[in-house]
This record gives sequence, C-alpha cells and structure tokens, in this order.
Amino acid sequence: MLRISGLIAAILLVILFAALPNTSQERRSEVPRGDVDQTLVVELDVPEGFDRAALAEVVREVDADPRGWSQIGIRVEVGESTTYRLGVATAATMAASCAPWPTAGRFGCQAGPVAMIYQPWWDEPPPWWEGSVDDYRRRAVNHEIGHMVGLRRHPPCPGPGGPLPVMALPPRDETQCEAQSWPVQADLDAASGLLDG
Ligand SMILES: [Zn+2]
Repeated sequence: MLRISGLIAAILLVILFAALPNTSQERRSEVPRGDVDQTLVVELDVPEGFDRAALAEVVREVDADPRGWSQIGIRVEVGESTTYRLGVATAATMAASCAPWPTAGRFGCQAGPVAMIYQPWWDEPPPWWEGSVDDYRRRAVNHEIGHMVGLRRHPPCPGPGGPLPVMALPPRDETQCEAQSWPVQADLDAASGLLDG
C-alpha cells in the first residue's frame, strides 16, 4: 500500500512539473497568434536622426513582394501598435529598444512582438553578406517579421549549396549556404505550422 501511494505521489509530482509553465513558455504564449490571413500592424521605432521613411519603405516593399511572407498570408502594415514594434537600434540602445523583451546579445531582441535590426548592419551589411545593401535590408526586415509572427528558432543551413533560411543566424565561414533576402520553403513551412497550430 505504501509502495502504491508512493508511486501515485511520484506520478502526481511529474504531472505537476509538466503543468508548471516556465518563463519562456509564458513569454511564448504572450506572442499573439493568428490565422494564416494575418496582418501585423507594426509601429516603427528608430533612433533620432534615423531615416524612418527608408525603413517604412522596405517594410512596404517586402510586404508587396510575392517572394515574401505574403505568399502564406502574412501581411505587414506600418501604423500604430501597442504590440508589434519593429525598429533599428545601436548596441547602446538595443536593450532599451527591446524592452520588455530580453536582448539576444547586442544584435537584436529575443523572439517576440518586438524586433530590432542592428543599425551598423543596416547602414553597412556585415562581411558575410555578398548582395546589395537594399537586399540586406530586405533580409533583415523579413527575418524580424518572422520573429514577430512567433518564429523563435534560428534554423541551420540545410547543407552546402542549399538556401539559407531567412530565419537563420548569420552564417559562419564554414557554412556554404546561399544567403538571400526572402523566406525559403523551410521558413514558410515553419510559419504556416505555427499559425495553423
Ligand atoms: Zn533572429
């Protein structure tokens, strides 16, 4: 009898721990979800002196482009929002701009409805980027839109010569994926799965 009640207690304990939300799970559930026909109204957040119109233009452009997230029904509009904030920040202003979300290093916010692009790279793309400045900016905005719809993971390069997911981190030297500006199939599948679920 003692053994059985011990077993029941152990089972209850396991159930209790499984049910306890940890901080990151709580955060995840705070990220608004929607249907595949989801329009994010994002408020722009840029440092003083920054060309806000240039950021707004890239957002409009990637939204209108059929190679973007719109192909799975995710639309983005610049406007006023208390939820979605997309911006540009320097290493010095990143933490304040990302608040209340934690920063992922100094280069951006950890996934959530607030997403910041690292300004030095907006101004001049990092060395691994082989395309144009405009294409880098499109990639940066597409990456952050992915985070805003709730994609938290940074997927890896699928293998030499493969397309680098737009949600991937900057490739390391040995990565032989081809970086480009638009979500690849793996990105679209991940986002669709998220929005369907
Ligand atoms: Zn990211």
